[in-house]
Order: sequence, then C-alpha cells, then structure tokens
Amino acid sequence: MTRSVFTNVLRYPCSSGEPQDLFISNGLVQGWYPSGSVALSQDDIVHDMNGHWICSTFVDSHLHLLYTEQYHRQIQVQNLISTQLEQILSESLSETIIGHGWRDPFPETLGPDPRRFLDTYGNGRPVLLWNADFHRVLVSSAVLELSGFNACEHSGILVELEAEKAWSVIKPDPAQDVPGACQRLLRNGISAATTFDRGESIKALTETSPGDFGVYVRHGVPEEEFIESCKNEIPKPWGSRHDDFAARWIKIFLDGTLGSRTAWMKSDYSDDPGNTGVVRRSGESLTQTAITAGAAGWGLAIHAIGDAAVAEASRAISVARSRRESVTISDRIEHLQLLDPADIPRIRSSGAVASLQPCHLYEDRQWMRSRWGLRSDHAIPFRELLDESIPVITGTDAPVESLDPWADIYAAVNRMDRNGNEKAEGPNQRVQFREAFHSKTAGAAEANYLPEGYGTLASGSSADFQILDRNPEAVTCLEDSGLSQVYTRGVLRWSKGECE
Ligand SMILES: [Zn+2]
Repeated sequence: MTRSVFTNVLRYPCSSGEPQDLFISNGLVQGWYPSGSVALSQDDIVHDMNGHWICSTFVDSHLHLLYTEQYHRQIQVQNLISTQLEQILSESLSETIIGHGWRDPFPETLGPDPRRFLDTYGNGRPVLLWNADFHRVLVSSAVLELSGFNACEHSGILVELEAEKAWSVIKPDPAQDVPGACQRLLRNGISAATTFDRGESIKALTETSPGDFGVYVRHGVPEEEFIESCKNEIPKPWGSRHDDFAARWIKIFLDGTLGSRTAWMKSDYSDDPGNTGVVRRSGESLTQTAITAGAAGWGLAIHAIGDAAVAEASRAISVARSRRESVTISDRIEHLQLLDPADIPRIRSSGAVASLQPCHLYEDRQWMRSRWGLRSDHAIPFRELLDESIPVITGTDAPVESLDPWADIYAAVNRMDRNGNEKAEGPNQRVQFREAFHSKTAGAAEANYLPEGYGTLASGSSADFQILDRNPEAVTCLEDSGLSQVYTRGVLRWSKGECE
C-alpha cells in the first residue's frame, strides 16, 4: 500500500508545538505521529515539510458558487460616476449588459428614473445592474418588457421578488462555470461549500461533478421551484453524506436585508419610523411548505435577517422537525443577523443551526447602529449563540462578500473594519480564533451534510488539508496566510505559483 507521508509538520489545531509526521493512504488520514517515530518504508512518498503548518481545508456554509464565477465577468459599477457609466454602457459589445455593486445614493444624473438613463446609453439593449447586496436592480426598458412589466412610466428600480423575476429572465446559463468555480474554491483553501441557487445551478453541478476537482458541493432548492414541482410529485432530497454533490434543503426567503432596510423587524427601523421591513413569507403558507418539505425528508434553510424573521424561521423549523421521520438533516437559519435574546429558547428548542456570515460586518457596520440602534448589540450574535449552546457555522455569502475564509474568521474574532482599524462593532459578540476556525472546519461537517469526521484530520477522516507557512492564528486574510498547497482526498489540487 502506497502511503504519502508529510514529515516535520505543525498541526493546527491541537498541535503540541512539536513537529509531527502525517500518514495518508487511500485519500484518508491514517495517523499522526511524533516526527521520526514511525519507520518509513521504501514505497512511501515522503514530503519533508520543514516545519510548515497543516490544517484542515475550509467549508463555506453559505455562498452562491456558480454565480461567484459569473460575478467576476460582470461590469463593476461601485464608485462609478455616471459619466463613466455612460462610457462603459455605450462601449460594451455585449448583447446583454450585467453589472453589480451600486449603493445608495446612486449618482443623481441616473435618477429618479434610471430606466431612461440605461435605455439611452445602453442603446436599447437589456441592462441590469444589481446593488451591492443583490436585493435591488436598476433595469432598462428591454429588461422590463422581457420580464412582463410595463416599461413606460416605470422608474426601472426593482426590489426583492421583482428584481429576481427580471434577473431570472436575462441571467446567463451557469453550465460552463463548474470547473472555474471549483478551482476558485481550492485556491482559497476551501474544499466543501453549500450553495443556494436555482435549478440551472443544480443541473450544471449534476452534469459536471465537483468531485472531479476533489470538492464537495451541497445545494439548497428554492422554495418556489419546490412548490412548483410538488404539483406533479413531491421531490425527494438526493445525495448521501459521502457523495460529491447533494441537495438536501429547501431554501426559503422570509425577508430582505439590512442594507436595503427590507429585513423584517419586530419594531421600527431606528432611522425610519413606521418601517418594519419586508415580509416575504410567513404564516399558514410557510407552515405548509415546512410540513411538506419536512415529511419528504428535506431540511429547511431559511433566510432570516431581521429579529421578526428569525423568530418566524424557528417556528417553521420546529414544524418541519415534527413532520420528519428518522432523517438526520440539520435545519438552518441563514444569516440570523439580528437576535432578540427573548427568542433564544425558541431557537434552541427548534434544533436550528445558525449559519452566520461575520464578514458582512465589513459593510453593515456603516449603517447598523443608525438603523438598529441598541439592538445592534445582538447583531451577528456569534458569542451569544455559542454561549447558549446553539451551533454556529459560517460562510462568506460570496459574491456578496469576498470568498476569503480568513477574512471571515478575522471579522468574527475582531469585528473591526477590513484593515483592522476602528473600534469593534459589538465587541461582546467576538469569539476566539479557534471557535471561528471550528465553525468553518470540523464544526461545519454535520450541518453541511458532509462525511463524518470531515474537517478534523483525525485518523480515518478525508485527507483534505492546506499547507501554510505560518501559524493560522496569526493570519488575517488569504493573502498573508502563506498558503502554498491544497490537498483533498490525499491528492494535490492546487499549488502556489502553478498555473493560477
Ligand atoms: Zn446568500
């Protein structure tokens, strides 16, 4: 039996500080031994790691995988003044122009009727520009017409469900994006990811297996598509813990975002009296989805950002749990961005896992206090949830934020801005490095339906690991991690300096 042996490595976590040798065979970790204590055989492939660090690769528990790939091909409209936008639109050769990144307030010359602007400079072509959190779009008349809206008199600003409707009409097919997306994960030190996208993404990942790249992908199915297919026959979740690809959750949106003031709140936004956000799903019809999905063995993954949405999400999850027989799947509250501490017992008893994105603090810190006031002390409540024994997993929500897992950990540990300046936002919610690391490795396996022991590098677990030239606890972002190699299932998948 051929073994790979990595000699003279420092293991994280649980390193004694002494160099060890890591033995791998058949893609699994065989064991760790004090350096030099186990005799090597002449068939062993030996890599002298010379005191480098080895830790598990990461699990990103919430992102938009194939869309992250497409995102890098779109035009970026953040920081653009309208004259630049005029130029970019008029010079673009694409049949359909897609961009992202605008923020409030958008340039005055675009408004109050951005449709006219996009019609003029886009030369009548379909133009769709997402805002930075992907819950609003600016569109041209061509997009309005294609998606069934009356274009005349329309401002060209669409929000939430209407924005998605327009998007679904003009978005490109992600079929070609699987290889690029998997390679992007690997060069960020990520070997498993749970993505929340639509049917064409599921189709693409079924046709091109992420396993060909040594990556595990998990998928949520949008509630609308689930309800639609239930008209014929209630679909079953598919894929096992050991499969490269599995779809196990129904993804339900209860509300919008903090950035768009559409997160569903128990009481008014502090700077917008009378506004409690947008309720996308609630009550009886939500209960119906929870019952149908639960009975068919699906887990729920519920987008809930405001405190009222979080409370409603735990109710729906309790319903789904009560209908599910002998299926072990974690239900998840995605984002759980604002916690009302009074809801802790309800969340805990629902059995929900909290799927947080600490890196959203980098953007949301700008307006959190003005919109949520003192409630912000319970925003992205990592510390509080751990202390209350509610499991926490983390993800980046890429492309909304950068895919960089270290930047997400850094946000959880420091809650400062991207450069480590300014005072911490919600300092009582900071966690230890090892806790944030756990939420992206061993602590993420169960909730993402990955093989048992995934992310531990314990004997018998999948040999998915990364090699760094410094102590992980000193890393603040991917760039300074000194990441040199990524292995999954014992095979070298990415190496620094090689065909990046
Ligand atoms: Zn998301």
